[in-house]
Amino acid sequence: MPTVTVDGKKVRVRKGATILDAARKAGVWIPTLCHHPAVSSPATCRLCMVELERGDWRQLVTSCNYPVRRDMVVYASSERAVRARQGVMRLLLARAPESEPLRNLAARMGVHDTPYPKVTESQRNCILCGLCTAVCEEVIGRAAIGFAGRGADRAVAAPFRQPSDDCIACGACAAVCPVGTIQVRIHADTNEAEISPFKARVKLRLCERCGKRMVSEPLASQILEKAELDWEEFRKRARLCTACRRQMAAAALVATGDRSGEA
Ligand code: SF4
Repeated sequence: MPTVTVDGKKVRVRKGATILDAARKAGVWIPTLCHHPAVSSPATCRLCMVELERGDWRQLVTSCNYPVRRDMVVYASSERAVRARQGVMRLLLARAPESEPLRNLAARMGVHDTPYPKVTESQRNCILCGLCTAVCEEVIGRAAIGFAGRGADRAVAAPFRQPSDDCIACGACAAVCPVGTIQVRIHADTNEAEISPFKARVKLRLCERCGKRMVSEPLASQILEKAELDWEEFRKRARLCTACRRQMAAAALVATGDRSGEA
């Protein structure tokens, strides 16, 4: 197990760990946005930069994807590292000035405003961290969204910026979006879930007993497919909401008790 020194604190971490892992173990806070344990770190937001000692000079590196080596010395709270992260945060704030989670994180980092011009309306509130695209591809296995355009026009979108049939409205991208830009909207009139801003709309499964809205139809089908359970009882239960499933299970227990009394 390599030993790493972060801000003067020595910690032993597992082989293959990152500087961020070591810092967390040492109790040193480093801000992150695009890092999530469920996916490989794209290191796109650059918010986790730290200084790494290299002999008589120091290099700025992203801590979320930099693997530790034996006897590494890291400065996470040095003036240069803090200033570099604050500079990145000012750029991010220009992209997502209305994001409350981002503004809260900025305040914690000592950044309260941005000198940069705010981005155009169509790009507003997406920091292009890529966490949503990574989750969609690596965890959900759909790759329904990706990066489109270049330069100032770069955005996360579905192919051809049209609603994608590959989206199953699972909501995973919305759950991980660190700035809260991706939202799941329910359309009660059509019983559909819409993933905003990607405009994908998907039918919701309704409980067969009480009619309550549940998960999206394609998500329910994907779960059943992955479970690989060729069991009619399981499929029957999947068509019911949690409350109706409980009622059904309770009724089945009572029926079993009645039958055992007969025996
Ligand atoms: S809601 Fe659609 S775009 Fe988002 S992760 Fe799920 S499948 Fe991908």
